Amino acid sequence: MLIAGNWKLNCNINEATKLVKNLIANIDNKKVNCEVVIFPPYTVLFEIKKIIQKSNIILGAQDCSSEIKGAYTGDVSAEMISDVGCKYVIVGHSERRLYRAEDNEIILKKATNAQKYNLIPIVCVGEKAVDRDKGIAIEVIKKQLEHSLPLNCSKKNCVIAYEPVWAIGTGVIPSIEAIKEMFSMIKEWLYEKYKDRNIKILYGGSVNNDNVKEIFSCKDVGGLLIGGVSLKADEFSKICINI
Ligand code: PEP
Repeated sequence: MLIAGNWKLNCNINEATKLVKNLIANIDNKKVNCEVVIFPPYTVLFEIKKIIQKSNIILGAQDCSSEIKGAYTGDVSAEMISDVGCKYVIVGHSERRLYRAEDNEIILKKATNAQKYNLIPIVCVGEKAVDRDKGIAIEVIKKQLEHSLPLNCSKKNCVIAYEPVWAIGTGVIPSIEAIKEMFSMIKEWLYEKYKDRNIKILYGGSVNNDNVKEIFSCKDVGGLLIGGVSLKADEFSKICINI
């Protein structure tokens, strides 16, 4: 089980330090049955790595460049992210697909770079509300999987996050039947393509302490990608401890 906390565009050094120290205080002496990974902004990764060194919290980055190195001002490469001590990197988050016009081709390059530098990409897929209304959610996700996942994926080098775009930050989650249907399709699709039934699939979108039990009633859910609540040390810790 993997619980991932995506801090997005939040936290200066002071705020990030406080948040991670609270997290450590809450979960470090508890029996936690999951891998807890936090995804702070780039500017604090180095500082946070030092603080979590002796804890069981793992570090990830929110994105990486589709390029390896060179004249790409503002980019941060997979190699740099690996060098600072990250184990995971999120690629293809819907906010990047939407606001930064990232398509499957770019996401595939990012995920491939991540694997090349021994990072585990968390490749996000998710349909928009309009796709679900049209009854094409499953087709949309299949297409995203087909075009944004690297050639070689296994439970060791890839994680998928299913995040319906309309559920992110809205307080609304899909029905449990809809989650089950989507997860079972993704699981089967991954098996057909990679012959691996154990590639983790995370659910993301408005997860909180009240709905987490219901989400986990779907047996194929291998963890969570949490946005808003990952900035609240107490609630995020409770989710990690209660799994
Ligand atoms: C996310 O941004 O990946 C996310 C799931 O956000 P939230 O938990 O706030 O819906």
